[in-house]
Amino acid sequence: EIPETTFKRVMLKISGEALMGPQGFGLHPPTVERIAREVKSVHDMGVEICMVIGGGNIFRGLQGSAQGMERTTADYMGMLATVMNALAMQAALEQLNIHTRTISAIPMDQVCEPYIRRRAVRHLEKKRVCIFAAGTGNPYFTTDTAATLRANEMTCQAIFKGTKVDGVYDKDPMKHDDAVRYETVSYDDCLAKNLKVMDATAIALARDNKLPIIVFSLDEPGGFKGILAGQGTYTRVQ
Ligand code: UDP
Repeated sequence: EIPETTFKRVMLKISGEALMGPQGFGLHPPTVERIAREVKSVHDMGVEICMVIGGGNIFRGLQGSAQGMERTTADYMGMLATVMNALAMQAALEQLNIHTRTISAIPMDQVCEPYIRRRAVRHLEKKRVCIFAAGTGNPYFTTDTAATLRANEMTCQAIFKGTKVDGVYDKDPMKHDDAVRYETVSYDDCLAKNLKVMDATAIALARDNKLPIIVFSLDEPGGFKGILAGQGTYTRVQ
């Protein structure tokens, strides 16, 4: 049975690490497939889906620059890592017969589509899943910021940030038994208390455009579909 949702178009942001599964690195095909099925279940509800996937399972710019590489070069490597993840997710979605387009902020026409806003909107209207790759195309940014930027451009109703935990806590719930989850939290509190939701640039961009961020657990089977139907636990940043 397919549940009802009030959402028509959403952005799903996941980190690259979400794709590495039990391994410490790279892509774990069964995990990629599992997340693709989560996306399919929401696609089946008729929701238009944008995705941004990080690259931290392959390469992070800060890590590279810590090892002596020029920061901008390291960041471009990080952006290329997100393209690899996007292609893996596109392949997994297409295995499930979901039409998908990988759209890169850095043109690489032999590999995927370049980002053209109106073209991407058209794909969404045709119920194709759009995976926005290569971040914002600029060094010194993150894929959280890319997700917020594209969500605004695509007029998504919210960003769904799939994580390992079911929301935002006042302290790390993996380390503290008495950590308390927020039902809702303001953008300003996230910034002032440095809560681990997204980086400050992304939160400010969401705040300035009144784009809600919904933090939920992607480890929960059926979690994404449930959250869209208003079930399960999550934190709403608003
Ligand atoms: N990156 C960048 N500009 C962007 C998005 C990403 O330079 O607009 C680079 C940056 O080096 C970052 C890497 O790509 O470390 C991977 O992205 P991110 O760290 O956001 O991935 P996640 O932590 O979500 O897996």
